[in-house]
Amino acid sequence: MATRLFNTYSRQLEEFQPLAPASHGVKLYTCGPTVYSYAHIGNFRAYLFEDLLQRHLEARGYHVHRVMNLTDVDDKTIRNSRQQNMALADFTAPFKKAFFEDLTVLRIKPAAEFPEATAPQFIARMIEMIGVLIERNYAYQAEDGSVYYRIKEFPNYGKLAHLDLENLRPTGRIRNDEYEKENVGDFALWKAWDEADGDVGWDSPWGRGRPGWHIECSAMAGALLGDEIDIHCGGEDNIFPHHEAEIAQSEAVTGKRFVRYWMHCKHLMVDGQKMSKSLGNFYTLRDVLAKGYTGREVRYALLRVNYGLPLNFTFEGMADARASLRRLDAWVSRLTDHAAPAPTGEPHALADHDRFEQAMDDDLNISGALGQLFEIVRESNLLLDKGELSPAHARQLLGWWNRINATLAVEPDAEETPAEVSRLLDERAGARKDKDFRRSDELRDAIAALGWAVKDTKDGQKLTRL
Ligand code: AMP
Ligand code: ZN
Repeated sequence: MATRLFNTYSRQLEEFQPLAPASHGVKLYTCGPTVYSYAHIGNFRAYLFEDLLQRHLEARGYHVHRVMNLTDVDDKTIRNSRQQNMALADFTAPFKKAFFEDLTVLRIKPAAEFPEATAPQFIARMIEMIGVLIERNYAYQAEDGSVYYRIKEFPNYGKLAHLDLENLRPTGRIRNDEYEKENVGDFALWKAWDEADGDVGWDSPWGRGRPGWHIECSAMAGALLGDEIDIHCGGEDNIFPHHEAEIAQSEAVTGKRFVRYWMHCKHLMVDGQKMSKSLGNFYTLRDVLAKGYTGREVRYALLRVNYGLPLNFTFEGMADARASLRRLDAWVSRLTDHAAPAPTGEPHALADHDRFEQAMDDDLNISGALGQLFEIVRESNLLLDKGELSPAHARQLLGWWNRINATLAVEPDAEETPAEVSRLLDERAGARKDKDFRRSDELRDAIAALGWAVKDTKDGQKLTRL
């Protein structure tokens, strides 16, 4: 079955067909964080959905070229750096660093590129694009010195957000990066310098100023992925005005269709409201880790609900995620104890076992896919209880688990064995070889005193945390 994805542009499920079918390459652009503070877990819901998309496409044999930008100049970064009396780059640097740390904790695959808006080559490209837009009458410099996009010149303006422009009366020009659908109007491409910008600014044919947020993504996407890309993602708040503006800018410059599939995840909510910095109802990843949860637990909690549905964040939800993962861990550990030592060479398990990927093909139906997984966990646990699961079948199930876990990435954290425990373990292996079982038991107790349980399996000693 082909992979089907819900395209925000058409509001329909569409079969995924890449621009370059022969090479199996997929160009994926994902809007990244605005680095004016720590990303909150709502932002990470979006990045995790994108990670799941990438991993599933890879499971289906595609090579995904993902780009995720960092917005390191915009209204908010400038405002906050000024409040802190810091140079913009000094202010954003620690948030960039924290962002990369958080990606690692959540096991989000790093993008192939993480372009930063302030990099000189991208600023140059933004200026170049704005020049072309003016030349072609899509943009104009207004009395305030700023350059605006003339939305009435772009007939498809409003198609992505499904705006009824006929009945919406444009409210005039808009200088802010973010605004409501009710305030449709010409948006800023280049913002003329003013007092509030301090020393942030670049010279341009229209005087000193800085780019609007939307042109940043058009320029970075075009520079790194070309004029046409396969999939562009973000959270649902990005649909308007950000992605609407990106289409208008990129397509007016290139004359080509910018994006084939637009995908947006629904928001992470708190008490029925969007989790957001401006509402102050947010948790950073660090907040949740400080409550004793691990990165993989947060990953699982945010991944397990389909991206097309809103997800309410609660600590009960975190506890559920923990319980589900424990169940999986226990199952994997039981299978490992029981499995035949080497792959049996039989094709991996029953036809059923493709159902995980099939569910994922259905617009990343992760809750259906996890339903399949837990059904197999239940059935094989029952067989294990009854002594009816063969070691060869256990090995097949483990092979299957490893395959789908390349998409889920929720295996337990590798815990480093302390040096002393390793030494005792080696000594115990020697004692067992010499059939000195009394010494072997003493050593097991010594290992237990350090917080570790050692079990003897046919593959040798196995260590787990007590
Ligand atoms: P920002 O740093 O505000 O530009 O947002 C970065 C990404 O997070 C964008 O793709 C947003 O659409 C997304 N986002 C922001 N808030 C939420 C939320 N509560 N739930 C899901 N995604 C969000
Ligand atoms: Zn963007």
